Amino acid sequence: MKTLEKPVPPGGTIGIIGGGQLGRMLSLAAARLGLKSCIYNDTPDAPAFQVTQNAVAALYDDLNMLAGFADACDAVTFEFENLPAHAIAHLAERVPVRPGAHALAMTQDRLTEKTFVEKLGLKTAPFFDVTSAEQAREAFGKLNGKGILKTRRFGYDGKGQAKVASADDTARAFESFKGAPSILEGFVDFSYEVSVVAARGADGAFAAYDPPHNEHENHILRRSTVPSQLTPAQVSEAKAMAKKIADALDYVGVLAVEMFVGKDGGLLVNEIAPRVHNSGHWTIEACQCSQFEQHIRAVAGWPLGDPVRHADAVMENIIGAEADAWEALARGGALHLYGKKESRPGRKMGHVTRLRGKA
Ligand code: AMP
Repeated sequence: MKTLEKPVPPGGTIGIIGGGQLGRMLSLAAARLGLKSCIYNDTPDAPAFQVTQNAVAALYDDLNMLAGFADACDAVTFEFENLPAHAIAHLAERVPVRPGAHALAMTQDRLTEKTFVEKLGLKTAPFFDVTSAEQAREAFGKLNGKGILKTRRFGYDGKGQAKVASADDTARAFESFKGAPSILEGFVDFSYEVSVVAARGADGAFAAYDPPHNEHENHILRRSTVPSQLTPAQVSEAKAMAKKIADALDYVGVLAVEMFVGKDGGLLVNEIAPRVHNSGHWTIEACQCSQFEQHIRAVAGWPLGDPVRHADAVMENIIGAEADAWEALARGGALHLYGKKESRPGRKMGHVTRLRGKA
């Protein structure tokens, strides 16, 4: 078993599980620091494979391939949080895994995650465990007329979610999820959404970016804008909440805490993403150290970089066929295209960041 008492030196290899756009941007950031990346993805056409010499295409529960991958790396991290727990344990027996198995387990499941957040004394939407249609009806009765049923695991970009407005609705939604364990959340009538993208180093150091205002369309992030309308006091509170979460998880790496800003100005935790996050892409152009470099630094045991923001910025996702207008988009700002062959509706094809003067 390799250990990481010392930082991974330049020339070392960071393993990245998942070869989508996040893996791709992590790999590019590693390269800038003189580190190599080895990327593991379950299909051979991964966007991140285009930017690394070390690509492994194998299933996420292929323990032999995972072992070989672990042996080729000095530390391993993730671009997505849904690797099966036994596969993470298998990796962790061979190589330092950052963030660790505990942090991933806590955040893979919405019920475990929300219970953990509540125990820390942070606010969330009211939530109830739902494992049967009967429980679904009962839970709805405890809400004030509106809720969202969410599968506990494997949901993203609105998948595995249904808005409900009656006990019957809730039972039907539960059945449409084919009985997958779920939680029913009270619908929060928030003013807007923000996120704190932050990093915790192997030495416990903490660094948070300015929280962006996030706008969604069809459950997919459309736009992140910095600065948000949060007051300085709310910004401090939001960052302190993220620090509390990161410390309690003994977290190493970048994480994102998505929050609702209530009509009364209070902050509610919606979700924790144990990885770099779409709402932090603007940090590439607008900050001294991007979220991708920051994550690689933390995983490699390097000192964290400075998250200071030197410009106001708006990041917009390029979704589906919008990527066909790449020439026009290239004129308007910092264009990132992820190298995906096909533009399916709802698929994130790239993003563009426009800087709006000095911060
Ligand atoms: P999630 O997958 O939990 O991040 O939810 C995706 C989006 O659905 C959030 O960014 C919100 O816009 C909306 N949403 C999720 N949960 C709630 C809630 N309890 N009340 C109101 N809107 C929600």
